[in-house]
This record gives sequence, C-alpha cells and structure tokens, in this order.
Amino acid sequence: MVHALHRDPDCIFCKIIAGEIPSKKVYEDDDLYAFHDIAPWAPVHFLIVPKEHVESMVQVGAEHAALLGRILLLAPRLALEQGCNPYPEGGFRIMINTGTEGGQEVPHLHVHVMGGPRPWSFGRTQ
Ligand code: 5GP
Ligand code: ZN
Repeated sequence: MVHALHRDPDCIFCKIIAGEIPSKKVYEDDDLYAFHDIAPWAPVHFLIVPKEHVESMVQVGAEHAALLGRILLLAPRLALEQGCNPYPEGGFRIMINTGTEGGQEVPHLHVHVMGGPRPWSFGRTQ
C-alpha cells in the first residue's frame, strides 16, 4: 500500500504538489516535487519541495535526513538541466528561507535553486 503523505489542506505548495494549482514542473518522484518559481529572481529559479508537508527547517527531524540529502543531491543535476552554466564559471545558489525574519513566505519547506548569467533581476542580488 502506498503511504499517504501528510498534507495541509490550506497550504499552497501542497495544492501545487497535488495538481490543484498549476505549476511548471521541473522534476517529480515519489517523495519530491520541483517547479519553476512564479516570480524568478534569476534566469533559472526553481523550487524543490518534499511532497510531505514539513513547515520549515525548524520542523525537520532525523527522520528527514535522507529526504534533505536527496534534495541537495538533486539540485546540481536539475540546475544544469534547467540551463545553469557549468561550475566554476557558472554555478548556482541554493537557499532555504526559514521563518519570517529568514524571509520565508510559504510555510512548506522549499529549497530555492537559482542561477544563470548575472545580473539577476529585481535588484535582489544578495
Ligand atoms: P520564500 O519567500 O517562502 O522562501 O519563497 C516562496 C517562493 O514561492 C517565492 O519565491 C514565490 O515567488 C514562490 N511562489 C509563491 N506562490 C507561488 C505559486 O503559486 N506558484 C509558484 N510557482 N511559485 C510561487
Ligand atoms: Zn504544504
């Protein structure tokens, strides 16, 4: 039997994962979903999320270690596939905003991956 993943019915990313809100898919497997950010900061900007509703890095426990490891292993591969230039001249940024002062707007753990030629847009260069 397929294990039913915990989801939050009010969560926008849970709705995206379920296909209830459309998104531009980058990658999907049983545990992970990746999609293009709706307001990109950079020529390449996508998000990798666990399908399970985990609110932030603060709610991550030892049981999520493999999941986080898989996300970080996936990021470089998807970055190149999505058009980031090769390391070291190219590369990419991985970012996990956590909590309000950490800049987190959506309370479903997500890993930003961004890259492509500089300068990046919206003046958000840091
Ligand atoms: P945070 O600020 O929480 O780290 O990042 C949330 C990100 O989700 C933002 O970069 C924002 O543009 C993106 N986002 C918010 N709502 C949607 C949506 O409905 N679809 C997509 N594709 N991205 C979204
Ligand atoms: Zn969620």
